[in-house]
Amino acid sequence: MKYNEIEYNEKGLVKCEVCGLYFQRVSCHVNKAHGMSASEYKAKFGFKQGEGLCSEKSRQKTSKQSSSRYRMNKASLFIEMSKKTRFPKGICGRVFKCA
Ligand SMILES: [Zn+2]
Repeated sequence: MKYNEIEYNEKGLVKCEVCGLYFQRVSCHVNKAHGMSASEYKAKFGFKQGEGLCSEKSRQKTSKQSSSRYRMNKASLFIEMSKKTRFPKGICGRVFKCA
């Protein structure tokens, strides 16, 4: 192990420096298995605080999910905004009584 360098195996999984096993997301693992927060783990093993502790596959999956969630939120935001500008029931534009 090189100090302050994240190790990956042939499958692209990230090595846990505490127990030596490989995971998609080491931050979740160290929290559950070793009772350490991701930032404590990074500090202990000399990793940069901004550095990700997940595999490339996991990173891509998260990125895809968050961008689709963003698009979904944007669409629902437009629907909510349009509700405010709709005419109330019984009012059709400038004419106050519907035919
Ligand atoms: Zn571990």
